[in-house]
Amino acid sequence: MISAQKSPIWHPFTQHALHDQMTRIVRGEGAYLYTADDRRIIDAIASWWVVTHGHCHPHIVRAIQNQAEQLNQIIFAGHTHDPAEEVAAQLLKLAPRGLEYVFFSDSGSTSVEVALKMALGYWHNIGVSRTRIIVMQHSYHGDTVGTMSVGARGVFNKAYEPLLFDVASIPFPAAGHEQTTLDALEAACRTETAAAFIVEPLILGAGGMLMYPPSVLKEMKRICQAYDVLFIADEVMTGWGRTGTLFACEQSDVTPDIACYSKGLTGGSLPLAVTLCRPEIFDAHYSSDRSRTFFHSSSYTANPVACAAARANLELWQRGTGERTASLAAMQERLIAPFRADARFENVRRTGTITALDLKASDAGYLAGIGPKLQAFFARRNLLLRPLGNTIYVMPPYGVTEADLVEIYAAIADAAEELA
Ligand SMILES: *Cc1c(COP(=O)(O)O)cnc(C)c1O
Repeated sequence: MISAQKSPIWHPFTQHALHDQMTRIVRGEGAYLYTADDRRIIDAIASWWVVTHGHCHPHIVRAIQNQAEQLNQIIFAGHTHDPAEEVAAQLLKLAPRGLEYVFFSDSGSTSVEVALKMALGYWHNIGVSRTRIIVMQHSYHGDTVGTMSVGARGVFNKAYEPLLFDVASIPFPAAGHEQTTLDALEAACRTETAAAFIVEPLILGAGGMLMYPPSVLKEMKRICQAYDVLFIADEVMTGWGRTGTLFACEQSDVTPDIACYSKGLTGGSLPLAVTLCRPEIFDAHYSSDRSRTFFHSSSYTANPVACAAARANLELWQRGTGERTASLAAMQERLIAPFRADARFENVRRTGTITALDLKASDAGYLAGIGPKLQAFFARRNLLLRPLGNTIYVMPPYGVTEADLVEIYAAIADAAEELA
C-alpha cells in the first residue's frame, strides 16, 4: 500500500522495496552536499561522474544566469547561436586533431546513439554493406535500447534482450591477456560486415572501473584503421580530465573517427552532450539528395543555457584546471598506495584522478551482497560512495581537499574492518 505521504517518484537504478529512504539534498558547494537535516556529505563520486570543478561553481552559475535571461531555447534545425558556435569551435581546438564536426545532443546515451547512427549512415551513404558493431566485454554505453545493445549483456538488461541487436564482442584486455583482445579485434575487423568498434578509452566505468593501458588503446586504433573499421571513442565518463589528460585518447595519441563527450561537458551543471566526427563522415551525408540528411534531433539539441554552461567549463579549463587534476591525481596515488599491501583488497588501481579497489568478498559482481552494505556504511559516515558490487571507487570533484580524501580512505579501511 502506498501511503499518502509517500513520494510518487520512481528513482533510477533503485530497488524501492529495499531502499525507499532517499537522502534529501538542499544545496551543493564544491565537493560538498548539504542535506535537509543539516548534514554535510562529501561527494566522492562527483554525483555519478558528472561534477568536475565542483557543485555550483560560481563561474558556471553566472554563465547560466546570464544566458537564461538572454535566450533559453531555440530550435537548432536551421538556427544557431553564439554559445553553441563558441563551444564547437573551442572543442575542436582541444579534441584530438582530425575531428572536424560537432553534433549536439543532451545525454551520454544519446551521444552514443548519434555515434552509432553516424557510423551506419556513413557506410550506407557510400554504398558499402557494413552494419556490424564490435564492442568490448564489460562495456557500458548507456541505457537506451541502442546503447544497451552495444553494452555488456547481463542483469542490467536481461528483460530487454529480445530488443537488443546482435554485436561482435571482444574480451577485456586484462593484464597479461592484451594480445588475446587484439587478436579478437583483428578477427572481428576482418569480417566483411564490420562497420565500427566502440570502446571506452582506458577505463570501463560501469563495468567495474576496469583499467587498461594506453598502448592497448593505440593498438586497437591501429587495427581498426588497417581494416577500415570506424573507431568510436565513448569518452562520456573518461573525458574532462578524469584520466589525467583532458581526453583519454590523448594518452595514446589516437584520433578516433567519432568521439562522444558528455558528463563533464558542462562541469556537471546541466545535461548536454556532443558527438564529434571526422570530415569523411559528415561528407558522406552532405548531398543535394535530401534522403542523405542526418536524421537525428532532440527537442533540446544545443540548448543555449546548457551551451553557456559548457562554454564556462571550457574557460575554466583554460584557467588551470589541468594543474588541479594533476595535483588531485598525485593525492589519489599517495592515499591509494597503502591499500596495495592490504590483503583485504585486490586489484588496487588508479588512472589519473580515479582510483578503484576490490574488497575481497564471498561474492562479486554488481549484485554482490556487500555492495548495498558498503554504501550504507559510507552514508553513515556522511560520504557519498556508491560501490559497483564489491568494487569501491573514488572519483571526486576536482575541488576536493586532501583532508576530504583522507576521510574517504579512512572510511574505506574501516569498512573492510567491519564488513569483510
Ligand atoms: C554514463 C555513461 C554513458 C551514458 O550517459 P548518460 O548521460 O547517463 O546517458 C555512456 N557511456 C559511458 C562510458 C558512461 O559512463
